[in-house]
Amino acid sequence: MNIKANIEQIKEEIKKYSPYPEKVKIVAVSKYVDVDIIEKILETDCNVLGENKVQVLKDKIAYFKEKNTNLEWHFIGNLQKNKVKYIIDDVSLIHSVNKLTLAEEIDKRAKAVNKKVDILLEINISEEESKQGYNLEELFKDIKNLKKFENINIIGLMTMTPLNAEEETIRAIFQSLRKIKDELNEKYFFGTLKELSMGMSSDYKIALQEGSTMIRIGSKLYK
Ligand SMILES: *Cc1c(COP(=O)(O)O)cnc(C)c1O
Repeated sequence: MNIKANIEQIKEEIKKYSPYPEKVKIVAVSKYVDVDIIEKILETDCNVLGENKVQVLKDKIAYFKEKNTNLEWHFIGNLQKNKVKYIIDDVSLIHSVNKLTLAEEIDKRAKAVNKKVDILLEINISEEESKQGYNLEELFKDIKNLKKFENINIIGLMTMTPLNAEEETIRAIFQSLRKIKDELNEKYFFGTLKELSMGMSSDYKIALQEGSTMIRIGSKLYK
């Protein structure tokens, strides 16, 4: 495993494939590894970590709280409403908001700790049953209400592609997400949606070409 070399390689690919490399952030997905390996990630200049389980995220945040104050923790997994309260203080971005009731709970908990929380709306473009995100009909139905929450900043969109999909399918999904972002910006957000969280180890190069600003990289870091 050579995390440093892998991150360097990904950075070169960002320069090569992205239309705007300076906007692209690597979210180092640390859900597979323990704190000793995370220390190795932090020896590079990568300081954004992604986790998908509330309890694991809490434990890791607690471990690094005194050691490293420069960390950003992103929640990338399916978030249950009753667990929002456990992460609200320490998380800097939630990628996976997929329901009005979840947004409502995040807003309420954020208000209680006097904070404004950045979130992304997760969109299920492929409309796979197994995927968690908003389908487009629901999204457009909820959008005005989503915008009303005072303690939430909606800063962009996130999507996942189906496992083992063809390159053309993956590319079409990323292109759709970008178009939806443009449409939402035009009609509702006046350009304030900046982020497209798309691309994981298997498809980040395509995501970069299609305008991703956040690639969520897990397994590739640990090879
Ligand atoms: C695990 C995970 C990733 C990283 O996946 P890899 O294929 O290992 O890079 C990205 N996004 C989400 C939401 C994940 O759960």
